[in-house]
Amino acid sequence: MTTLASPPAATHARPKNTPPSNFSSSVFEECGLPSDPNNLYRQTVGSMLYAAQVMDLPHEFQLILAQPKNEIMVHFPVRMDNGKYQLFKGYRVQHNNALGPFKGGLRFHPDVHLDDVKSLSFLMTMKCSLAGLPYGGGKGGIKVDPRKHSVSEMERIVRRFTAAIAHNIGPDYDIPAPDVGSTAQHMAWIADTYAFISETSGKNPNAVITGKPVESGGSLGREKATGQGVIDTLEIMLPELGLDISRVTFSVLGFGNVGSWAGRILAAKGGSMRAVADHTGFLRSDKSIDAIALADHVSKTGGIRGFAGAEPCSKEDFYKAKVDVFIPAALEQMVQESEARMLNCTVVAEGANAPTTPPGERVLLERGIEVLPAILANAGGVTVSYFEWIQNITFHSWDLKRVDQELNKHMVDAANRTRAARQQYDCDLRTAAYIAALQRLQKTYEFRGIFP
Ligand code: NAD
Repeated sequence: MTTLASPPAATHARPKNTPPSNFSSSVFEECGLPSDPNNLYRQTVGSMLYAAQVMDLPHEFQLILAQPKNEIMVHFPVRMDNGKYQLFKGYRVQHNNALGPFKGGLRFHPDVHLDDVKSLSFLMTMKCSLAGLPYGGGKGGIKVDPRKHSVSEMERIVRRFTAAIAHNIGPDYDIPAPDVGSTAQHMAWIADTYAFISETSGKNPNAVITGKPVESGGSLGREKATGQGVIDTLEIMLPELGLDISRVTFSVLGFGNVGSWAGRILAAKGGSMRAVADHTGFLRSDKSIDAIALADHVSKTGGIRGFAGAEPCSKEDFYKAKVDVFIPAALEQMVQESEARMLNCTVVAEGANAPTTPPGERVLLERGIEVLPAILANAGGVTVSYFEWIQNITFHSWDLKRVDQELNKHMVDAANRTRAARQQYDCDLRTAAYIAALQRLQKTYEFRGIFP
């Protein structure tokens, strides 16, 4: 089954400006960022600081954006089903609100720590700016493994966490959403708890959170929105790489919300899924893997393992699968140098946040593999969250056609601004996406000034 990964032919000229391995910025020291080059926060902020140098962004804006505005950490006790109490740790990091209320998901995962949440919060500021949304960036989470708790325990954990941060969120101030491990059901409990605790007379308390079930104030199209946005981005960007979306082959790392919807939507457009992986294993097939049947299997069993429509394979075989498009849609830093060397694709479309490390990306660019950066490719989720929020605050509901059309407009505009920055600065797409995001933030700061 092993297919050796031969470097694909370069499909486009190598840009002049790409982040060098010895990139440095005085802002790292001035802001006291971690010195470890493998630290996620240093890596994500470092990509922005490189873009800031290329576009010559004034130093004060680099400083402001290199650290979050607020870092909130809470500890709270919750009664377990056996009557004993367990103490949980929760986070809400509010990175920047120059463009509007803080906005970003809540991750429920046992490995969540402050650096992750800070990085994801920073990425939300950049993503909302690039997507043209009236939002800043935030992110939060609970250090918990939802798979290890009963429904009633999770309800108490989520409600108690909401109570702990209720005075730090709000429909006009900070609007969370789902992320890894959190679901529409969790969002409904958060909205309900917030409605009891807060004073939102005349306003719809449901607008405090997005990604709710449609029956409970959610938007049509929100569940699939991030995957939809990945495919919208591919549809815009593939022609310049000489690929036809109706004939592409692809592989997906992570078959949860983002990965499974990206897989199903790309398959519906004619794409053929050849390899897939999640926390339970790796699968390959020389024929198409049925994305709908696999999503059904995952919803029944919790993972891809045991799916009869593909063959189990090794991690190496998964990464070396020859495909046109590779979609990482699991966690951060999963495409490092070794994975980048194995990949045998033309384009990486980042469904996950920060899945590619800077050293991994250098290998990809050297090998002529294009990378569609997360702040562009996965902006569909927060964009439809914005539509959900608009529907909540105006007490209206939109049909699916309108949601999909409006989403596509935002994705096309973000891709065009990224391409314009790439052309202006002769740089890679990640640097270009950051430049386009920074240009909007710079204009806002120049008009409003820095208080006092
Ligand atoms: P999810 O919990 O629904 O799915 C996560 C997937 O990753 C699962 O299939 C899981 O099995 C897999 N995974 C976890 N650990 C793994 C490992 N070690 N190896 C292989 N696979 C592993 O989460 P999601 O909402 O789909 O989010 C996935 C990524 O997309 C995250 O980076 C998230 O921040 C990002 N994202 C999500 C949204 C959204 O709307 N849900 C929006 C933008 C970005």
